[in-house]
Amino acid sequence: MQVVLVIFIFAIGACIGSFLNVVIYRLPRGESIVFPGSHCPACGRGIRWYDNVPLLSWLLLKARCRDCKARISPRYILIELLTALLFVGLYAALYVLDLRSDTGRFEHTWPTFIGYCVLLAGLLAASAVDIELFIVPLPVLWVCAVVGIAAAAYNPSPLMPKATAVTAAVSVAATLGLVISALLLRLGLLRPSFLGVEEPDAKSGSVAITKASGVDPRKEILRELLFLAPALLLGLAAFLLVKFAPPVRQWLNHLLDFKTAVGPHLASGLGALLGMLVGIAWLWGTRIFGTLLFGKEAMGMGDVHIMAAIGAVAGWKVVTLTFFAAPVFGLIYALYLLAFKGKRELPYGPWLAFAAMFVIVFYDAIWSVLIPG
Ligand SMILES: [Zn+2]
Repeated sequence: MQVVLVIFIFAIGACIGSFLNVVIYRLPRGESIVFPGSHCPACGRGIRWYDNVPLLSWLLLKARCRDCKARISPRYILIELLTALLFVGLYAALYVLDLRSDTGRFEHTWPTFIGYCVLLAGLLAASAVDIELFIVPLPVLWVCAVVGIAAAAYNPSPLMPKATAVTAAVSVAATLGLVISALLLRLGLLRPSFLGVEEPDAKSGSVAITKASGVDPRKEILRELLFLAPALLLGLAAFLLVKFAPPVRQWLNHLLDFKTAVGPHLASGLGALLGMLVGIAWLWGTRIFGTLLFGKEAMGMGDVHIMAAIGAVAGWKVVTLTFFAAPVFGLIYALYLLAFKGKRELPYGPWLAFAAMFVIVFYDAIWSVLIPG
């Protein structure tokens, strides 16, 4: 039966990869990802359904458009194959090789596995766009974060660290603060920071990163600190409330009680929310301190969103290890560049993505190295 499941996961992976190709091409160009249907970029003719089968069509058409014979980039089949192989690899690592002792059986933790696959696909798409255009497609990461929180709430698997009374209260309050700030920003009551604007211009389809000239990065980063102020203040208020008001703490402990029907789902879902906030805190904190310290923009807001998605899907422990592992991989690559010149530099997002998948798979091994015995 497992062979059937693996073939199924491979096929789903190839289809998701096919969809990622659409996302990677259209999202940064401000085009809709559902309409119109796939068409040849050279002649504009629609692609027939039987020419749109992942992996196979590219091979059968010998990498050429049926109508105009224009070459189809090998990137299409590469992304499809990579997604399929990564999905199967993740399944093998978790359920065949049992690299993480607390994974449990597939029948019990499949929603968590789906969450990981969505994160994997999202990070792959974000990395591909980041490498090509040096921008991060934010909606892809929002989808990952929502799926991660939903999967954790639906399926309280041991892979997601649960929220306690204190962390649950702080997470909800801080998220409320972020929502308030986002609303104020949308209403124009809070001014955006003028550091690297990474969102593509939907109307012109231009994807150039517009760096405002003549702005003081230290002043701009204080604007971001103001954006975070409601989240920080509400988080602190919630912390003090739970710490010093026993009735509130008892009520929360009852809500999150594992022996009740709702408790485990709430503790797991809020654990995912906590993971998202911890991911945001590590990278946005580094961005703010780095920019204040060096007077130059440090880290991008796209990377903050990548960390949010990782934390929401994999929890605060994985996202924290990812934060510290990513520079190590980046450094190894930098040394490689130093030794073999000629390759162009990569943005930071793909390193976060690579580190996250590495930590998700080798979590147990990493801990046994960090804390031997
Ligand atoms: Zn064509």
